[in-house]
Amino acid sequence: MDRKIVLKKGRDHSLRQRHPWIFSGAIERLDGSPASGETVDVFSADGEFLAKAAYSPQSSIRARVWSWIETDIDPAFFESRLRRSIEARHRLQLDRGVTALRLVHAESDGLPGVVVDRYGDTLVLQCLTAGAERWRDVIVASLAGLTGASCIYERSDVDVRELEGLPQRSGMLYGADCPDCALIRENGIQFQVNVKTGQKTGFYLDQRVNRRRVGEMVNGLSVLNCFCYTGGFSLNALSGGASQVLSVDSSADALEMARQNLRLNNLPAEKCTWMEGDVFLLLRRFRDEGRKFDAIVLDPPKFAPTAASAEKAARAYKDINLLGFKLLNPGGLLFTFSCSGGISAELFQKIVAGAALDARVDARIVEHLSQSPDHPVALNFPEGAYLKGLICQLSV
Ligand code: SAH
Repeated sequence: MDRKIVLKKGRDHSLRQRHPWIFSGAIERLDGSPASGETVDVFSADGEFLAKAAYSPQSSIRARVWSWIETDIDPAFFESRLRRSIEARHRLQLDRGVTALRLVHAESDGLPGVVVDRYGDTLVLQCLTAGAERWRDVIVASLAGLTGASCIYERSDVDVRELEGLPQRSGMLYGADCPDCALIRENGIQFQVNVKTGQKTGFYLDQRVNRRRVGEMVNGLSVLNCFCYTGGFSLNALSGGASQVLSVDSSADALEMARQNLRLNNLPAEKCTWMEGDVFLLLRRFRDEGRKFDAIVLDPPKFAPTAASAEKAARAYKDINLLGFKLLNPGGLLFTFSCSGGISAELFQKIVAGAALDARVDARIVEHLSQSPDHPVALNFPEGAYLKGLICQLSV
């Protein structure tokens, strides 16, 4: 029997708007007992074909759309989607002057659950969903052919796989061996990226344009970079002429890499200080000591991975932003970010406004920021827009 999903009456609206997720509650009937990740045809209640999708038996997102037309979901399909995704970035000239780029951004590139980041000759693949998992070998073979990469490493060691009933996994997928560290260049600065043990796939590529923006705005300013990881914003600030950069992170490994990254570049090391510590505690200490900065970057980890954790996350965002505002000199700049899917841009702005109010500062937004263009957002998939940022200026 053909493997197919028939939707409940009246539950086909979002699919007709080309939103690629089919929730379990919208399904009337499942025919043909598909295995995890297998392709199913999706029909409306009155029998109209709507999509081809990957079946995910354990997730409440029960299927994710590969195609809106009746086409074979086979190796040629993946080759064509991957090529399209890489070509789109090339047309935007995103591969000029950088050697690290997100090549595939999951749903927004028509490949739900598939994330591919390029770090020089090394590719890192994340398979986040049952469908991506099922086609992993095909995707790897295609990527090798399309990019000429010397190795492909898997970093599917992420919590969200558990919602799909998949174990976390990482390791070599293609090539003799991946070097632990890939050397990359962005915004004229070199970074070592540890693709095997670094956070995410090794580097926060989504912040590239915002790191550059910080570099452009801090000439002559003292900068506090909170949650600095391997020094991305710190080195951009130094390169942009900051007078002092103090960077904080709780990870000793990240700070060790940050120190190495500083040495790789011809930047004024004497202006740069690294501190291991908890930002929440440190900001309080600085407040009590009356320390001030001209610019502060707040780029915390994902406090709210899901909508359910949004309330607790909102308190954490408010806390650090309130303290950040208090530590700024008059005219100072706050570069503040949230990468939580559960916090909308609108809500984030409200939280930051509340923080300024409670900090008793007068501040205005001078710029809205989002993720770099190699992390596009398909118009039919607003969930793809997860990173939001504001540049706020205190009154002079
Ligand atoms: N801005 C960085 C990415 C930041 S990722 C870049 O552009 O590359 C978030 C970082 O916050 C991680 O490095 C993590 O180690 C750190 N972190 C998480 N919780 C922390 C805490 N309470 N105090 C300090 N650092 C923390």
